[in-house]
Amino acid sequence: MVVVKANEIQAQLQQWVEECLPWAEKGETAGYIPALDKVPRDILGVAICDLEGNVVEAGDSDFEFSLQSISKVFTLLLALEDHGPEVVFNRVGMEPTGDPFNSIAKLEYLRPNKPLNPMINAGAIAVCDLIKGNNIEEKFDRIRNLVRKLANNPHIDLDQKVYFSEKQTGHRNRSLAYFLKDVDRLDGDVEDTLDIYFKQCALTVCCRDLAYMGAVIANGGKLLETGEQVVRPEYCRMAKAFMVTCGFYNGSGQFAVEVGIPAKSGVSGGILSSIPGRMGIGVVGPALDDKGNSLSGEMLLAKMARHWNLSIFV
Ligand code: GLN
Repeated sequence: MVVVKANEIQAQLQQWVEECLPWAEKGETAGYIPALDKVPRDILGVAICDLEGNVVEAGDSDFEFSLQSISKVFTLLLALEDHGPEVVFNRVGMEPTGDPFNSIAKLEYLRPNKPLNPMINAGAIAVCDLIKGNNIEEKFDRIRNLVRKLANNPHIDLDQKVYFSEKQTGHRNRSLAYFLKDVDRLDGDVEDTLDIYFKQCALTVCCRDLAYMGAVIANGGKLLETGEQVVRPEYCRMAKAFMVTCGFYNGSGQFAVEVGIPAKSGVSGGILSSIPGRMGIGVVGPALDDKGNSLSGEMLLAKMARHWNLSIFV
């Protein structure tokens, strides 16, 4: 094993950030959510966190961004804690779709009309409907509390601009949710469920938060400092399996081949990675490829995986 001092790792990461940043020129920010379209493209940040909680950061690691689809991992974990796998997987499947994240196509023609997995929008909205609580405030509060706890950061909160922006323009998500209601896949009020979904997507973090959360998931759901078991190990295992098979939507296969680590992307350009028993990595690069995944972020993770042998498919 090569022991590298933190400052050497930092210098290495900084160099890779500089090498990967130019890829951002080939990508676009997520213009379909107006608040995200205003974000500069030339940003690339990274943080890594080992299972003892040691963090190394490079590039624009302080840049704050919304979780977007990365939040789907946390609502899945909470729904599993609330109901167990039988109820959750009665609501959503376990299969990759090969389709874009917001696709409605297979939802209509497959029988039963059940979202194929919890990492696509339809699946995440269906999972959101399962979160326990007496009203939408309580349900969202429980999601925010889990995110804060897993990130060891009590200050994580909603970006109101991003939330309102998506609430106003989220017509595709609205159509997915109304379709789910029509086929009896949502119990609650459709607009209430969507409100929770838009809010969870607008929770704002930095690379350090993602790296820490990734490390806790890599650690089987145990907090790094206190050892408190926040989420059951088997649910963290399931989350990592979904991250590998569905975390990059119709780009998941290529990411598994080229990088090979459990990771979940969001259209803000964030990527949460969780390498079992080793570390968490948080990356942000707002310029996206045509599948909605961070271009320079993917390049950076590929470099890190190659040089540090991070792939789980050794
Ligand atoms: N809030 C976004 C949406 O529903 C999340 C999608 C994503 O990050 N891929 O469209």
